[in-house]
Amino acid sequence: MLFDVIIVGAGAAGLMCAGTAAARGRSVLVLDHADRPGKKILISGGGRCNFTNLDVSSAHFISQNPHFCKSALARFTAADFLAMVEEHGIPWHEREHGQLFCDRSAADILDMLLSRCRRHDVRMHLPCAIESVRKEQDGFRLETSRGILHCASLVVATGGLSIPKIGASGFGLDIARQFGLHIVDPDAGLVPLRFTGPEKEALQSLAGISMPVCIRCRNARFREAMLFTHRGISGPAVLQISSYWQPGDSLEVDLLPGLDAAAWLQRQATGHPGMRVDNALATRLPKRLVALLMQMQSLPRRPLKSLSEREIPRIADTLAGWRLKPAASEGYRTAEVMRGGVDTRELSSKTMESRKVAGLYFIGEVVDVTGHLGGFNFQWAWSSGHAAGQAA
Ligand SMILES: Cc1cc2nc3c(=O)[nH]c(=O)nc-3n(C[C@H](O)[C@H](O)[C@H](O)COP(=O)(O)OP(=O)(O)OC[C@H]3O[C@@H](n4cnc5c(N)ncnc54)[C@H](O)[C@@H]3O)c2cc1C
Repeated sequence: MLFDVIIVGAGAAGLMCAGTAAARGRSVLVLDHADRPGKKILISGGGRCNFTNLDVSSAHFISQNPHFCKSALARFTAADFLAMVEEHGIPWHEREHGQLFCDRSAADILDMLLSRCRRHDVRMHLPCAIESVRKEQDGFRLETSRGILHCASLVVATGGLSIPKIGASGFGLDIARQFGLHIVDPDAGLVPLRFTGPEKEALQSLAGISMPVCIRCRNARFREAMLFTHRGISGPAVLQISSYWQPGDSLEVDLLPGLDAAAWLQRQATGHPGMRVDNALATRLPKRLVALLMQMQSLPRRPLKSLSEREIPRIADTLAGWRLKPAASEGYRTAEVMRGGVDTRELSSKTMESRKVAGLYFIGEVVDVTGHLGGFNFQWAWSSGHAAGQAA
């Protein structure tokens, strides 16, 4: 069978691309090894799909080339996606940081993408295993569990390596390697971090505590909530910073974000000179955390008035820059995304087509463009899918 466009991967980017290409009159086939399309869409955003963000800019994406995503994001914007959502009568709401979610369920987004595909006669083969891909003179030849297929344009939309139990695979990276495209080392992103040894044991006493922090690593910083778990740390602040963290890095956690810790301590010492350091800290921080800080950082358990000029800044430094050194991330089992992927230098930023192999496109998470938490990864899927759908 011959198609203008075959798209491998019936996820967010693949379905967007399919609808766009088919609306241009291209004959389009979507293949997926899963039995149902859009499984990740369905589990996203706690089942409500954080489908985009009101503040989309390249600053919310991580890539070896931070400019690469700009063109596609500008040509299919968050407003464009929102217009589609409204046209389909999907009720939505805004949460903090401009994040947009479905009111009812993520299934609304998947239904919208599928109905757009149906309207334009997109064919679907699910499940379908792809055994081999070969370049031919005027396109590609795919050997699949449903027979031999041919296409002029092949779009790889197989996502990243996160959550293998719902069908993530390294197919996209393998195809890139097969055609000699460079790959930026992939790793888990938006993922909890864990500790080992004495640090793990000490921090376990904090399990269940969630608190606002400002967390820093390398050149990134995020002011959001951090959650202590039995294995380590999680919550939005940690998921965000995990996309920058590399093994061996320490994190710096400001436990009193937005407050000048030294000035605050000084005020406490003046206002409540008889109050002990731990009791003063407990007016701002959870008691279990204070107990741990007193012990781990050997803070003086004395009245504030007895603190020397050197001690106040030392305590303040601990509060404003508590250093934690995770041993590892929780890996692809729980990661929301894969960072790294097909090197953007290999692709046209306008069309997502390979510069080396005419007719071969990569879109969505398989590309080295990773969004922050907050709807940015879906927006990249929509925008890159649209870009390829306009060209393939
Ligand atoms: C738990 C969770 C929650 C998330 N929540 C959000 C959120 O609220 N907002 C947000 O912006 N992002 C969220 N994300 C990230 C977002 O889901 C992804 O970035 C996005 O789905 C990527 O789109 P994609 O089309 O590139 O890949 P996917 O949506 O993962 O689709 C890839 C498709 O390719 C198929 N496939 C894989 N390998 C093969 C193969 N070998 N052969 C055939 N088919 C194959 C898969 O079955 C799948 O259908 C979340 C991720 C997770 C894991």
